[in-house]
Amino acid sequence: MIEYADSSIHIKDTILWLDAVKKRGLSFLSHSHSEQMNTYHDRIIATKTTIEFYKKFVLKDVPLNALQMSYFRKFSIGDLTLTLYPSGHVSGSAQLFVKVKDSKILYSGHINNRLNPTCDEIYYPTADTLILDSTYGSNEYIFPKRDIEETLFLTYVQKNLDNGYHIVILTNPFGKAQYLISILNSLQKPIYLQNRIYQYTQLFKNEKIVDLSFIKPLTSKLSNPSILIYPFEQFEKIPFTKGEYKKIALSGEALFKDSFHSKYFLDESFVISDHADFNGLIEYVKFVSPSKIYIMPSKTDAKSLKQHLKELKFEVEELLKPKPKSLF
Ligand SMILES: [Zn+2]
Repeated sequence: MIEYADSSIHIKDTILWLDAVKKRGLSFLSHSHSEQMNTYHDRIIATKTTIEFYKKFVLKDVPLNALQMSYFRKFSIGDLTLTLYPSGHVSGSAQLFVKVKDSKILYSGHINNRLNPTCDEIYYPTADTLILDSTYGSNEYIFPKRDIEETLFLTYVQKNLDNGYHIVILTNPFGKAQYLISILNSLQKPIYLQNRIYQYTQLFKNEKIVDLSFIKPLTSKLSNPSILIYPFEQFEKIPFTKGEYKKIALSGEALFKDSFHSKYFLDESFVISDHADFNGLIEYVKFVSPSKIYIMPSKTDAKSLKQHLKELKFEVEELLKPKPKSLF
C-alpha cells in the first residue's frame, strides 16, 4: 500500500504522493517547511495558508494548479477519499487521511501536540495504517514543561536587555518566528524582524491570531538594546559587533546544550519546540491506534521510538532509503 521512493511516500497504485521531493503529477504538501517546497508539481493538495506561502515565496510567477482544502472536509479524487486535519505544528500544517478501497491511511506530516497560539490544535483521527514522522523519536527527547521554559526565556531576554545587550534569537522563519513574537509580546518591547521573517509574518496579518503591533522591519542599525529575530542559516551574519549582543535559540535540540551551542555559537538556548517530543509521538500513536505503522526517516534517530511502539504491540516498519541494487 505504501511505497518509499526518491525520499518520498507514494500511495501505491494511485497518483498520490506525500510531500514529494521530486516533481510529481499530484502531491500533498503538509506545511510550509522543508525541501519539498522547492519542487514544482503539476498539482498540489494543501491548506489555504500553505498554498499562499508556496505561491508567494516559492513559485513566484510560476502558475500553480492547487486543490485548496479546509480541515475536516472530505473530498474525492478518483478512488481516493481525502481529508485534511490540523497537525498543530505551524500555521496551515495538516495531516492527510486517505481512504482507498478498504484501507484507511493517515500521514502525520510534522506534528505537535502542545498548544501553539499560531495554529489550530492537533486533531487525532483513527486509522489502520499510520505513516509517522519521527522527528525527536529518540527517548532522549523529553521536553520540560512549556510554561517553565517560556518563563526562563522571557526572564533571560529582559535581564540581558536591562544589562544593555541586544538579543538575537535564531529561529525557523515560518511558524516558529511568529510563535516567538506571540511569547515576546508580553515584554511590550519592539521586536525587529530580519527581512525574510518580516515578509513571512505578513501572511499572519489577516489571520489576527498573533498580535503584530510590536514588530518592526530591520532597516537600520539599532541604537537601543533591542530584540532581533533572525534565521538560523544566517547565524554568522549578525549585524552587531561581538560583545554587544547575546545570541540565543529555541529548539528541542536545546536539551543538548553543548553541541547545540557550539553549532551556532549560542550564548543560551531554551527547550521550546513546535514538534512533539518522544512522549508526544507515543501519545499521538495511541490515539490514532493503527494496526500498522510506517516510521519515516528524520534527522533524529528513531530506534527507541520503534522499540517502544513494538513493546506496546504495534506492528512497526521503518521506511528507509532503498539500498542500491546489487549487481548479482
Ligand atoms: Zn516542519
